[in-house]
Formats: sequence, structure tokens, C-alpha cells
Amino acid sequence: MRKTKIIITVGPAISSLGMIKRLIKKGVNVFRINFSHGDYDTHKKAIKTIREASQEIGKEVAILQDISGPKVRIGDIDGILKLKKSEHIKLTKEEDINDKRSLSISYPDIIDMVNVGEEVFFADGTIRTKVIEKYSDYLILELLNDGELTSKKGVNFPKTKLKISAITDKDRDDIVFGAKNDIDIVALSFIQTKDDILKAKAIMEKYQFNPFVVSKIETGEAIKNLETILEVSDGVMVARGDLGAEFGVTKLPRIQKHIIQVANRLNRPSIIATQMLTSMKYNPFPTRAEVSDIANAVYDGTDAVMLSDETTIGEFPLEAVEVLHDTIKDVEREYPFFKAFPSSNYADAVAKSAVELAKNLDKEALVSFTISGMSAQLLSQYRPKQNIYAITHSLQTFRRLSLVWGVRPLFIMPKIQNPTKLIYDFVTRILEEKRATMDTRFIITMGSTTGQKGATNFIRLLNREGMKSVLASEF
Ligand code: PEP
Repeated sequence: MRKTKIIITVGPAISSLGMIKRLIKKGVNVFRINFSHGDYDTHKKAIKTIREASQEIGKEVAILQDISGPKVRIGDIDGILKLKKSEHIKLTKEEDINDKRSLSISYPDIIDMVNVGEEVFFADGTIRTKVIEKYSDYLILELLNDGELTSKKGVNFPKTKLKISAITDKDRDDIVFGAKNDIDIVALSFIQTKDDILKAKAIMEKYQFNPFVVSKIETGEAIKNLETILEVSDGVMVARGDLGAEFGVTKLPRIQKHIIQVANRLNRPSIIATQMLTSMKYNPFPTRAEVSDIANAVYDGTDAVMLSDETTIGEFPLEAVEVLHDTIKDVEREYPFFKAFPSSNYADAVAKSAVELAKNLDKEALVSFTISGMSAQLLSQYRPKQNIYAITHSLQTFRRLSLVWGVRPLFIMPKIQNPTKLIYDFVTRILEEKRATMDTRFIITMGSTTGQKGATNFIRLLNREGMKSVLASEF
């Protein structure tokens, strides 16, 4: 079983039911819907197609809603705007401008915050400009390199302190949409402090919406506040597109390693995103450097790797997923398993001991009976070589665990209070479904008081004799 998870972004290139089914069969664990593009009808259709495909195949996947946050974007452009070094263009407060040499932006007030001499980057920093003149309603920018721009590309202001609200009106609407449309994971863009996440969570709470919340790290401010942000987040995304534009791409490897290290230590699933297989948009084969980048992210300890335009508009989405899968599988043959961390609480100490037992006794699988998914995550943190099977009564937990390294959500079983009966039901079912034999050796963890989040306090070793005694139980 592959342990590092695969996330791909949904778009026109993979919108059909047949394609989504093929992608799930190739091993996609999480589908990302980018709310910076498309309308609610398109998103609803995508969600329906993914759920239908997963039901037809019999494999659950998670859906991640990527909320755009206060990402600054240019407006619509008719076709492609070709830009040449040293030319001048206007960045204006006017909306829906059609003049080819003027660009409108999603937050017109920003024009007032930018000063002459500061930089303005477009399209993840691939087009760089400098402000040479400032007027009340527009800026004049000088192009520092050639490039091409299309509609709605992102804009970065690396040297400017921007004061814009972290949760926009559109984000609020999008979160409400997520609450009503079966979303498992929400990623928040351009958050800067823990309060930004708490604001989003307050909206979610109003709608009894309880997704995994992933913080996208894309600014210097977010890196500064990483630990406090992670304390209130369920996961983290290294959003290399905007990070690269803010910091310059040469600093990315160091930043990426830092974020993964902190996330691993705090036990928050991490995602490496953007340009993992860019050349495969138009090519059936990756470059050596791309494969190396994927492998290094896996070695560093990320939980998941993500594709964006490789699958939204790329010509080889299936091949790209195959390259991710094969590269990860190869790295995991010699992965640095069994990581050491000091355990942070009682449940964590139990998980750590279970992984230690699995290592010493060479057991074949760890089994976690989990309500919120946290007990399975605690096992995952220590990166055991053994599979982690998660058993839960909650479909939402089951799906969300698709994101977590090494965890295979296995069964959804009714919530019952008797741990012996739970184990009996698990053993009966796994044998019935021929996913194990009487000779499979398991290490089971659960909260024996059951019903409480993260209350793991019980380890049981199961071998042939143990299975026999479980099966002889009477209820
Ligand atoms: C990124 O910046 O790398 C990213 C994933 O965010 P978005 O695709 O929303 O720009």
C-alpha cells in the first residue's frame, strides 16, 4: 500500500465520470476543487461526479474545497496578453477594463497601499514588474521580463504590507456552500495569523460544518506565525506558487522542509503543492528534476503531494498521477520509517508504544478504532512501516483520513460501547472479506471508554490464538 497520499485538482480536463473513475483507480486519494475558478453549478456537478465515481468503484475519496481568500487577481483578459521587458502597463482601480494595456484587480484599494519602487508580480511570480509612477486611480508598472498573461492570474506584492481581511465575503459564501455540499476538507488561502482560521471556523460552526481545516502557507507573515496557526488547524499546505512569488523560488526548498518539520512535530498532515509535474501539462513524461522534487517531498515527510493545472487543463492527467504513484512507491521502499518524537500526551504515548510494538514484534498491521480520526493520526506521526487500518463509525472521518500518511480507512462500523464486541465485529468482517487470514498479526489501539475524541488508552495484540479467542466470544 502506498503511504504518501495523492491530491489532484478538478478541472475541464478531468470532468467526466469515466475520467474520475479512472483517476480513483490509479490511486487518487483526495480531489481538490479550486474556488478561485468556476461557479457553484460547476462545483456541484464536480462533487456529484466524484461521489458517483467513488460509489461505483467502491472506494471512498475526500473532497477538498480550496477557498481563494484575499488572493489578489487581475480581471478578465481577452485571450492572451503578450508582454515584453521594459514596456509599461497600467494597474487600475477601474473594473472590467478591456484596454489591453490596463489590468484591473480584485482589490482596487490596494492601489493606494503600493508605493513607487515596490514590486508587483503576476502569475506566481513568472512576470515581474516595478512601480514607476503612482496616481490616485492607477499605477504605472515597468515590465522586468517578457511573459504572457491570461485572465484571473494571481498578483503578489512582495514588498508591500497589505491590509485586507483574511476571510472575504466570497469566502463566507463559499464556506456556506461547502457546509451544504458534502465537503470533507477546507483549505484556507492567504491566512496570516491564527485568528484568520478561527474566523473561518466560527462561520463553519454556525452551519454545523466540521471539516478538516488546512491552512495554506503562502506569505512571510504565515511562516512567522506557523506554530500558532498549526495549533488551530488540522493540516497545512505548502503553497509553493505564492510562496515562490513572495520569497523567490530559490528559498522554497528550505521553507518547504521547515514547514514539513513543524507539521510532523505537531502532528498535522502536510501537503506539498504546485508545479510538481508542470512539464506533464503538455508532455507524457516528467523531467528528472520533477521526479526528484516529488521524491524529496516524500523523504522530507510530507503526508500528501498535490497536482494543480497538470490535471485541470493538462493533456496527460492519468500519466501524471501514475508518475506520482510510481515515484512515491519507489521512495517508500527505503523510507525513513519509525520516526522518533517525544509523545505529547497520554493517547500519544499509547500510539507511540503501539508503533514500537509493531516494530519490535514485526506485526503486519496496526488497527485504530477512531472517532475523530485522531487516534489513527497519532499512529501515523511515528511513520510505521506497517499499514494503519482505520475503523470508524463516521463517514466524514473515514473520508478525511484519506489525507493522512499511511492510514487506510478500512471499515465504517456502527458505534458501540463494548470494545470486545468491536474487535469481534472487526475480526469477523476482515476475515469474511478475505483482507486477512487467521495468521495475520494485528496490533489494535482504541479508547476503551469509547466515545471520546483522542482518548486512546488500550492496546491489544492479535495473533492466531488471539483471533480464536475473540471469535469464541459470546454477546
Ligand atoms: C499555491 O499558491 O501554490 C496554491 C496552491 O494556491 P493557488 O493555487 O490557490 O494559487
